[in-house]
Amino acid sequence: MPHEEDYTILQDGTVWRTKGTTASVHPETIQSEYGHTLKGSYSYHNHPAKSTHYSMSGEDAGFFLEYEVQYSQASDDRYIYFMERTPETLLAKYEDVTGRFREILDGPVREMEFYGHIDPDTDEYHEAMKQLSQEYRFRYERVVRNDR
Ligand SMILES: [Zn+2]
Repeated sequence: MPHEEDYTILQDGTVWRTKGTTASVHPETIQSEYGHTLKGSYSYHNHPAKSTHYSMSGEDAGFFLEYEVQYSQASDDRYIYFMERTPETLLAKYEDVTGRFREILDGPVREMEFYGHIDPDTDEYHEAMKQLSQEYRFRYERVVRNDR
């Protein structure tokens, strides 16, 4: 798929399909425009091969934390990754999370790259997500797709 699409299952059992662009999709409209709460929802979206960073983005994590999504999975042409809330997961604002994600990328992740500890092509966002998930106390994992 050359563009992003999101499928979200709400707590009330309804399923919502949101179409996005090549670089982003905005399922927050389910709540902001249509008035259905995203709290406790389960979602999946794809990242097109041409625009993926091989992990969740800061925007994905900000959305997940601010709207209290229970489980968010995404995939691209190489990996599957997911975020899951736990009872310890912190509440946070979208802008704070995206800002912190950027700080982690520009600090510790740049340093890991400088010392050759990670592959800059596939691991920048993955490393930033690992650190972000520790700070905000949610579960984050990435696995290689099995169909390759
Ligand atoms: Zn995404």
